[in-house]
Amino acid sequence: MNDHGLEMPVFEPGSVWLVGAGPGDPGLLSLYGLHALRHADCIVYDALVDARILGLARAGSRLEFAGKRGGKPSPKQRDISLRLVELARGGKRVLRLKGGDPFVFGRGGEEALTLVRANIPFRIVPGITAGIGGLAYAGIPVTHRDTNHAVTFITGHGVTGDVPDGLDWQALAKGAATLVFYMALKHLERIAGLLVAAGLPGHTPAALVAKASTRDQHVLETTLAEAARDAAQAGLEPPAMFVVGDVVRLRAGLDWLGASQGRILDPDPLAMGAGRAAETA
Ligand code: SAH
Repeated sequence: MNDHGLEMPVFEPGSVWLVGAGPGDPGLLSLYGLHALRHADCIVYDALVDARILGLARAGSRLEFAGKRGGKPSPKQRDISLRLVELARGGKRVLRLKGGDPFVFGRGGEEALTLVRANIPFRIVPGITAGIGGLAYAGIPVTHRDTNHAVTFITGHGVTGDVPDGLDWQALAKGAATLVFYMALKHLERIAGLLVAAGLPGHTPAALVAKASTRDQHVLETTLAEAARDAAQAGLEPPAMFVVGDVVRLRAGLDWLGASQGRILDPDPLAMGAGRAAETA
């Protein structure tokens, strides 16, 4: 049982919980995530985990940083996985805390498979991924009946550090799906260029959402063609999401955070220049 009167799974010594911490705002942590923070002996966390979330850890639990920070030496993925095995074999309750959701561009699957090979019991606690929850904090829904029937999550950064090979840009440009890019800031110009070359109009609405759901959240509304220039001009810093599609227009009506600071919301944000909205009406 926990404070909420809910039955909680036992965090067994010698096991690992792989927990998604969400995009930043501690309130977006799940109850299982909080339970794990309160019971872990050892917390292995990555760079995207908000300090306020680590502040919820049980006094006396040990915090180990295992993050990757662009450009700086960081632990190798294999070393992180083996560290989890070592701690669990030492009888610890090991919390592996990752930003967003552990299974969305988070290498949670790789870490869990190492545990499987080592015969270590584990639990996955999903988190709110930046590509959905982070955008919601900018007032951008990933789907909306009048704009899109599909959404695609894409990494802007492959194993080599470059835009991933093997993406079918023509297919991405077709069908009016919302395109949600993770890790795209560095290659923004290239990504936008590839989409335009594949047929997506340069005036397609786009937005960058940096440090979503944290106190430093920064949202930039732009277009596909202007995104790279606008991001550079605004000095936008990672982590950031890049979203492309008509859903971005809904922010004029759904920027609830902005409204709390005085922004007047438009109850009919798709009305002007209805575009795709008109086609599907
Ligand atoms: N597992 C994470 C993603 C890890 S990949 C998740 O599900 O959210 C790292 C990328 O996630 C960053 O480069 C950025 O694109 C995105 N990201 C994570 N947290 C973010 C945040 N608070 N605001 C904006 N983007 C974020």
